Amino acid sequence: MNMQGKNTPMPRDDIRSRLGLRPVINVSGTMTSLGASIVVPEAVEAVSAILTEFVELGDLHRQASKTIADLTGAEAGFITASCSAAISLAVAAAMTGPDLAAIERLPDTTGLKDEVVILSGHMVGYGAPVEQAIRLTGAKVVPVGQTTHAHAYQLRGAIGEKTAAAVYVVSHHVVDYGQIPLKVFAAVAHERGVPVIVDAASEYDLTGFLADGADLVLYSGHKFLGGPTSGIVAGPKERVRDVYLQNRGIGRGMKVGKEGIVGALAALQAWKTRDHDGIRAREKKALDCWVEALEKRPGIKAEIVPDPTNNPLDRLKVSVDPAEARITAWDIADRLAAGDPPVIVRDHEVEHGHFYLDPCNLHPDEEFTVAVRLEEELDRARKSNTIIATPFEERLLAREASILKWPD
Ligand SMILES: *Cc1c(COP(=O)(O)O)cnc(C)c1O
Repeated sequence: MNMQGKNTPMPRDDIRSRLGLRPVINVSGTMTSLGASIVVPEAVEAVSAILTEFVELGDLHRQASKTIADLTGAEAGFITASCSAAISLAVAAAMTGPDLAAIERLPDTTGLKDEVVILSGHMVGYGAPVEQAIRLTGAKVVPVGQTTHAHAYQLRGAIGEKTAAAVYVVSHHVVDYGQIPLKVFAAVAHERGVPVIVDAASEYDLTGFLADGADLVLYSGHKFLGGPTSGIVAGPKERVRDVYLQNRGIGRGMKVGKEGIVGALAALQAWKTRDHDGIRAREKKALDCWVEALEKRPGIKAEIVPDPTNNPLDRLKVSVDPAEARITAWDIADRLAAGDPPVIVRDHEVEHGHFYLDPCNLHPDEEFTVAVRLEEELDRARKSNTIIATPFEERLLAREASILKWPD
């Protein structure tokens, strides 16, 4: 194995060393808990340029709107604090429209349509429950169908006099079978005049959801786009205006500053000219490097798998047979995370005996360090007298207990 990158000391000016933080290598994807994504240079430069200047914020939002419109094909756009904030504000807008008094009254929804339908199989968590982002506005959540199957007639039956909006989530988190496709979902909602809000936080596709019937589509600015923490709303002018107006109400606590707007705007503009093929080629190189490192290792199967929601991104699925590898998949994940440098893998399905390596947030040469750390842990396990197997239940409860340990 090429040892390039192995144990490279953290540069002295790395802000993490000044703050006493571990220099994490992120092969888990775009995770808020790890700092989301590598912000693109264009956004870094724009953020730093605006921080010391005054602007007329309404005008800055107008410019951002034009850029969002340009990239999504929608009439208008709006930048807020996060995609989660965008869900709340889009729902609020569906209830209040442009009624400024109603905007100030939320979360009191007296006199407004205040029910929001969502498929049961879409009621996911992304660090917080999606349905809480809806309820924050004062809206009531009306789940549709069962977790594992939903029919158009169930959606039709759930929509009534008080329905303000229909929320549709596109994500690898949602149940991936038995759900109503967006086109059908939107058609049924539109039959009853109900607007469709699509949470597409992590999706690279900036135009397809509007084409499939979304009235508003929401993205994270800090995921694939590589912007600073922000959320992006796109849709028809009046609907987006109604979302923007929520800044005079519940949106105040979710506001984005000039740096967030300018950074998201720069990331969107950079997206247009980004070398997408070059990035894919680099990601492929990382995947190949890991495949090579894991080849012929007893009890380890490594396969390159496509993204479950068709984003142009492949990951390496590493399946572990503990009898042969002499370690469980979650013990490998935990040892990599505890190591030097810490390597954080994608372990949301680890109870099935596999984890993923996601190459989309790597700095140059970090793939070699990941390969070396994998080899080290697998070699160590093979030499161990006993199989390294923390009971999964124990790991689960320990992780849960650690939530309350902060700030110690
Ligand atoms: C990440 C994510 C969110 C939240 O996005 P933020 O911008 O981090 O608030 C919402 N929905 C889905 C499906 C996500 O993946």
